[in-house]
Amino acid sequence: MQHIIIGAVITILCLPFSVQALTLEGNLIQGGMVIGKADPAATVHFQGKPVRTSPEGLFVIGFSRDAELESVIELHQPSGTGEKHPVRIKKRTYQIQRIDGLPPRKVSPSPEDLERIRKENTRVKKVRKKDEPRTDFTQTFIWPVIGRISGVYGSQRILNGKPRRPHYGVDIAAPTGTPIKAPADGVVSLAHNDMFFSGGTLIVDHGHGLSTSYLHLHKILVKEGQRVKQGDVIAQVGATGRVTGPHLHWGMNWFDIRLDPSLVVPPMPKAKAQ
Ligand SMILES: [Zn+2]
Repeated sequence: MQHIIIGAVITILCLPFSVQALTLEGNLIQGGMVIGKADPAATVHFQGKPVRTSPEGLFVIGFSRDAELESVIELHQPSGTGEKHPVRIKKRTYQIQRIDGLPPRKVSPSPEDLERIRKENTRVKKVRKKDEPRTDFTQTFIWPVIGRISGVYGSQRILNGKPRRPHYGVDIAAPTGTPIKAPADGVVSLAHNDMFFSGGTLIVDHGHGLSTSYLHLHKILVKEGQRVKQGDVIAQVGATGRVTGPHLHWGMNWFDIRLDPSLVVPPMPKAKAQ
C-alpha cells in the first residue's frame, strides 16, 4: 500500500512587487486535484480550455494518471492582457495487479453485454460533463469508509490473465452492509442499482466538474438530485458487478479525467477490530 500525500502550496508572483495573481493548493502530481484561486476578474484556461471560476476566483483542475509533467494555466484579463503560469507536476509509478477468479463473462463480455455497457457508459459520461457552480470541492474530504485498502489508483490490471485498463480508484475492503459516508457536500448525480461492471453505482457531484463515485454497492440510500452533506450515510458496501468480494471502489473525477481520491484525504486510520 502506498500513500502519496503531497500538500503543496505554490504562490506564483507574476512580477516582482506585483499583487498575487494565482495561488494553487493541492496535489501537483499525476492523478492529483488542485484548487486554485485567481484574480476574480480573470478567465482561467487550462490545457487551452476555459475553466469555471467562482465569484471569489476559485477553480479546480485535475491531472490524469499519465498527465504530461508540464502544463500551463493561463489567466486572461478583461483588458485583453494575459499571463501564462507554468505548472510542473510529479510523475508516478504504478503497480501491476493480477486478479484471478473473476467470472469469465465479466472479463470478456458478450455482444449483448457490450451493448449494455455502451449504454451505461453513455449515461456516466453525460453525468460527468456537469459543470455546476457549487464549490463543495473546497471542503476537506473524509474517507467514505474506514478499512483495509485492497487496491490503489493507477495499477495496471491483469484480470484472469488478460491485460485490462488501469484501476482508476481506491478499493476499501469492508463487509457487505458497511455504511458509506459522503466525503464532502454534494448533489447525487447518478444512482443506478445494477451496472454491468460496477453493480450498484452512485456518483456525487461536488461542483465545477469534480465528482466522486461509489461502486459495487449493496444498497443505495439516496436519490438522484438529492443534496448530501459531508458525513451523511449515502449507501452500503456490497459485492455487486465485477468483484471477487465485498469492497467499496471509490473514484474521483474532474470531468472525464480520473483522479486519485486517496490524495485528498488523510492517511487511512486503523480500522477498528471487528
Ligand atoms: Zn476498484
